[in-house]
Amino acid sequence: MAGFLEMLTGPDASRLLNADATVIVPVGAIEQHGPHLPLAVDHIVASEAAGAVVDRLGDELNVWAAPTLPYSKSNEHAWSAGTIWLSNETMHRVLDDIARCLAFSGVRRLVFLNGHGGNSTLLNVACREARLAHGLLTFLIHPFIPPAYAAPDPDVASDTELGMGIHGGLRETSVMMHLRPDLVDLSKAVRNVPEWLAENDHVKFGGSVQFGWLSNDFGSVGHIGDPVGASAALGKKLFDESVGFLCEQLREIVGFDFQPCD
Ligand SMILES: [Zn+2]
Repeated sequence: MAGFLEMLTGPDASRLLNADATVIVPVGAIEQHGPHLPLAVDHIVASEAAGAVVDRLGDELNVWAAPTLPYSKSNEHAWSAGTIWLSNETMHRVLDDIARCLAFSGVRRLVFLNGHGGNSTLLNVACREARLAHGLLTFLIHPFIPPAYAAPDPDVASDTELGMGIHGGLRETSVMMHLRPDLVDLSKAVRNVPEWLAENDHVKFGGSVQFGWLSNDFGSVGHIGDPVGASAALGKKLFDESVGFLCEQLREIVGFDFQPCD
């Protein structure tokens, strides 16, 4: 029965983690998310999403969830107490070590399920490195891609966020109100939207020009977006849609292999 890799015995792992198995490595973060959310948001969302996917498809598709990596590349929040981040070099080494161990276990397919947008570039690099170094088929999926790294989804973008709700905003706060309402204090939620940035044609979140930024470049409050209207109902809708989409992606991933053209 597929499920959580860490709950297996060693002998069971050597039997079950074979070339047909796919292992999801959720990647979280411990980083400030403003005054209304806990540090563990990305860790919780990545873990819950991976758990939901494995619950739904684990047995059918032989998909396993590895423990969530709690720390990752969160140095855009380095200024804030409580943020624990890995350097670029350390994280690269950690990802390579995890990939090597899974390849050694007999697994062929490794899926990084990324809960923290700031990891995206590095995880893409890690996918290629693990493909070359360990012969794995590697994939990167996201429960939610914030508009800092992809164009905002017009179906979800809130009018008050102007496409700038990238961190602790309406969507993330709503998802947390669905998953862990005990950890959300909406009475402390305030709007913090960089309207000046939204006016640019190119240099902006989701624009054609990428730019280096730190979360305190947008003020000292920490989050970027407008969480004021967040709700558990919206969070449930977003989370359920995301899990459905992740399952759709997993179905294609488990059947994916390279085919020579000649
Ligand atoms: Zn987050």
